[in-house]
Amino acid sequence: MMYQIEEIKTEKRKLNYKKLVICILILLLVLYVSIRLGMTAAQKSQEGSLASVQEQSGDIKQQDTEQAKEIDEEEIKRRKAHFYKEVDDIYNGEPGVKRVFLTFDDGPSDTVTPHILDVLKQYNVKATFFVLGNRVSDHKDLINREYAEGHYIGNHSYTHEYSKIYSSDESVLEEYNKTEAEIKKALNDDNYSTNIFRFPGGAYGGPYEDIKAKTRKIFKKKHIAFLDWNALTYDAEGADTKEEIMENLKKTTDGKENVVLLMHDAADKTLTYETLPDVIEYLQEKGYAFQNMYDLMDMGE
Ligand SMILES: [Zn+2]
Repeated sequence: MMYQIEEIKTEKRKLNYKKLVICILILLLVLYVSIRLGMTAAQKSQEGSLASVQEQSGDIKQQDTEQAKEIDEEEIKRRKAHFYKEVDDIYNGEPGVKRVFLTFDDGPSDTVTPHILDVLKQYNVKATFFVLGNRVSDHKDLINREYAEGHYIGNHSYTHEYSKIYSSDESVLEEYNKTEAEIKKALNDDNYSTNIFRFPGGAYGGPYEDIKAKTRKIFKKKHIAFLDWNALTYDAEGADTKEEIMENLKKTTDGKENVVLLMHDAADKTLTYETLPDVIEYLQEKGYAFQNMYDLMDMGE
């Protein structure tokens, strides 16, 4: 009997032991599952907060660039307005100070432009070239040389065909923009803008004055400067000897402190570069300082 009771007790203990082991296993399983779940949740929340930090810093970065962009745009606007005003005021320089802007229109051309650049280099004179858009892609090397040697590249329309350009104000703008695009491409610089237009035939008067007046208003609004001239050698208007060129130069610059001199570097203007040393020397003797459009810019130093 005693033995039986003892046996039952042992059986019961065995059973209890089994129960305990199962309980512990279940407990361990629950613990494991809950730890795993907890870790995943913690990981998730960590990832979440990281993402939000990244998002935030992304926001900050974006804000920064937007702010920088805004400053850039403001600054560019201010510089354009400054340049427009300086060009508009070009004939009202400092009293007593003589300055001359040499300008060459209708290029570039292989026969004339390189010779003009050579002479300018020899005299260390910086000029302004008002180029034709439809001549740019075939003369990328010359555009780049003009630019590299410190000359200013201005815009003189795409076609130079008056009836086409002045058919409407949109057409003038189209010619301007097309030429800008060609210059950007030639210089391989998307940010390059001339910001200055020389109206073929001049910005005022003539049979297209209505269209020109409309366009001048648009340019003013956009702060695109435009510039004519107040002196010329008549190199494109029939002067065909050195003497005539020099005579015209003397006559048209006489008594002027601020001179914008019109000349041409179209393919047939060989006389222009042949006379250029005399032109420069005459102006030097008269006490003129040579400037180009870069001198009218505020680079914001
Ligand atoms: Zn022209």
